[in-house]
Amino acid sequence: MSADVHTMKKIAPTVAAVLGLKKPGAAAESPIDAMVADLAGSCRLAILAPDALGVLPWRLWRDRMPFLSSLHDTRSIVLESVMPPITPVNFACMLTGAELAVHGIDKPYQRDDGWIDFQCETLYDVVRDAGGQSAGAGQQGYTGELLLARCADLAWVAERGPAATVRDLIESKYDDALPMFLIAQFGNVDSTFHRLGPSDPEVVPMLEELDRTLQGLTEFLTRAGTDIIFLADHGQHDILDPAQSGKRGAHNTDTPEDRQVPCTWVKA
Ligand SMILES: [Zn+2]
Repeated sequence: MSADVHTMKKIAPTVAAVLGLKKPGAAAESPIDAMVADLAGSCRLAILAPDALGVLPWRLWRDRMPFLSSLHDTRSIVLESVMPPITPVNFACMLTGAELAVHGIDKPYQRDDGWIDFQCETLYDVVRDAGGQSAGAGQQGYTGELLLARCADLAWVAERGPAATVRDLIESKYDDALPMFLIAQFGNVDSTFHRLGPSDPEVVPMLEELDRTLQGLTEFLTRAGTDIIFLADHGQHDILDPAQSGKRGAHNTDTPEDRQVPCTWVKA
């Protein structure tokens, strides 16, 4: 791994260090120094995660995302998803600092006897122990609802739709709650890449909407004194022969396209 590539397992200990909390019990990695140096002493932190915005679509389309690009011009690292590079495994990694074998969160989220629960401590637990509240946000039917919102103190579930549906919901709830920690999934990004392929120019309008939405949400959250980390859970690659699945984008392999994601951050 080059100096600028960090395992996803570093996110949970980094969030804990920034907020001045102990790291979750199963988190073995050290924090990301550059992020802690900029954000240490934060009283509120948000993770905003466009699902599947990995290095492949980022390198192709970052010029069409002027807001995110401007953040990366200043602060930019690459995170590497844990295996397998799929959504539940890596959002659970962000919250625990652990791999699938330790945190136990995989699809489906429910078995016959009920929801599958975390098998180790999470950032939600650590924040709660410190007297704070966590919020989990996302769109109906996605991991944002089924894991992030379900397990958080505050469950913010938006209608399915463009990224703005998540932004509007957060902005309607945030000032009354002022959670110490917020994590939000923008699941429409992953769905669009699956349908069209991450390299297809038809994904650009979705990414432009995402960029505008993140810019507005960043202005809102930083006004409320909230620092923000931007990352994705995993990437995607193009399916060259979509005949079998009907999909044009996928992610499940041990490749840079599926595992490496851009990450940046901003201080309030
Ligand atoms: Zn997906």
